[in-house]
Amino acid sequence: MNSPIIDSIAASVDAWRGKAILIVEDIDSNYQYLFATLSRSGANLMWVRKGEEAIELILSGKPVDLVLMDIQLEGMDGYSVTREIKKLRPELPVIAQTAFAMKGEKEKSQAAGCDEYLSKPIRPSDLLKTISLYL
Ligand code: MN
Repeated sequence: MNSPIIDSIAASVDAWRGKAILIVEDIDSNYQYLFATLSRSGANLMWVRKGEEAIELILSGKPVDLVLMDIQLEGMDGYSVTREIKKLRPELPVIAQTAFAMKGEKEKSQAAGCDEYLSKPIRPSDLLKTISLYL
């Protein structure tokens, strides 16, 4: 996070202040990594471990500007959760993040309505650049 390129991206995305990013991630250490990458952006970060909780949060009407969606989750997987979210808020950007760079994952994520797809491990610069396309 201390490299010049990341610093410059982080500086350029300070406009995320006031934006709300919902992180759906069931592994604590993965969340900590995302938090470390995104915390300086000024965005309001919300974290749920289960897809069902993400749907509830969207249903509650709480402001969310972008969703970072883990695909491998207990219960509903990230594809199913994304489908439900897109029924409720079609315009809400959803960025899928998966541990599996498997053939077909990109197509599956697109079919589920995900706007973008990132394979773990996600480089901070890729994460910041991708989010900046949607916030
Ligand atoms: Mn997972």
